[in-house]
Amino acid sequence: MYHLSGVLRGTSHSEAWVVDGRVTFIPPAQKTTEVHGYVYPGLVDAHTHPGLSHKNEPVTDGEIRRRLEACRAQGVTHIREMGAQRDVAPVLRDGLPSVIRAGRHIARPMRYLRYLAVEIEPRDLPAEVVRQVERGDGWVKIVGDWIDRSDGADSDLRPLWPPEVLRDAVAAVHAAGGKVAVHTFARETIDSLLDAGVDSIEHGTGMTRDQMIEARNRGVLIDPTVRQIRTFPTIAARAGKYPRYRARMLAMNATRREHLAEFVAVGSNLVMGSDTAEDVAEGGLATELMCAAADGIPTSTIMAAASSAGRQLLGLPSWDEGAPADLVVYAKDPEADIAQVMHPAAVFLAGKRFPE
Ligand SMILES: [Zn+2]
Repeated sequence: MYHLSGVLRGTSHSEAWVVDGRVTFIPPAQKTTEVHGYVYPGLVDAHTHPGLSHKNEPVTDGEIRRRLEACRAQGVTHIREMGAQRDVAPVLRDGLPSVIRAGRHIARPMRYLRYLAVEIEPRDLPAEVVRQVERGDGWVKIVGDWIDRSDGADSDLRPLWPPEVLRDAVAAVHAAGGKVAVHTFARETIDSLLDAGVDSIEHGTGMTRDQMIEARNRGVLIDPTVRQIRTFPTIAARAGKYPRYRARMLAMNATRREHLAEFVAVGSNLVMGSDTAEDVAEGGLATELMCAAADGIPTSTIMAAASSAGRQLLGLPSWDEGAPADLVVYAKDPEADIAQVMHPAAVFLAGKRFPE
């Protein structure tokens, strides 16, 4: 049993207790261990891939466990997995972060990274999303746009799906009680996503201010994956054969800070995702939060999006009486010094403290 004091973020309470793995504001009669610091509801990595392999062979149980433990060390108690070949459910156990699974990426042949996606033709999208939603925990992941290399030097980012197919697919997922997240970099994809009623936009580098406002009004989650956008110059450097695509990726990186500021200014429904897989130990959510701060997102916005506000958007409890005690504690204030996110003093998963 623990007594939490110091600064509790995301609640007006100034102290709380962990009893039988749960949060309570009612002081227990028993003796408690003191935990003092800056306490947040456990962080959510809203876009990582513990079960994803970049090769033809699937990841092993041990590798999935290693990735999840790396998340935990960064204060992450919940993950929204945004596409993976392997179902991580059989590997999950007490002491590892909880995972909201999304089945496999859905794309068209030659229109995404090799090995990752179920590759289908547009007419099959409405049926495939239903298959994938049944494999996961309510989310599906669609690749919305990718480079179309069929156009020689004019090759560029292009939407994968006709708008009417997207509309039918999203309707099918919603009818099955699920939600749709879409990978998108390109501006010309966004209107079709908003019209179709998607629930989460991953990356969203092409969005205009009007599209951001529309997304906010519709309650669409925005996952800006700042660390990933910072790799656009690397992606561009490898795309010498495709000058249009290359120029577009470089331009989106060049306006990255202004674009992120606009997301904040319009009051976007922000969640924070690292977009990592095997690199989660070195590039995971803590790095994402550092990148977001370096690119000008206010630290209070970042920490809320990674913690209580993001949890609420994903339907997870925070400081509710009796909620599972999923928490992260920092010795110093990460909103004064964002580098604190690299070294949580303690992480609680259902009341169990790490490091033990
Ligand atoms: Zn991803």
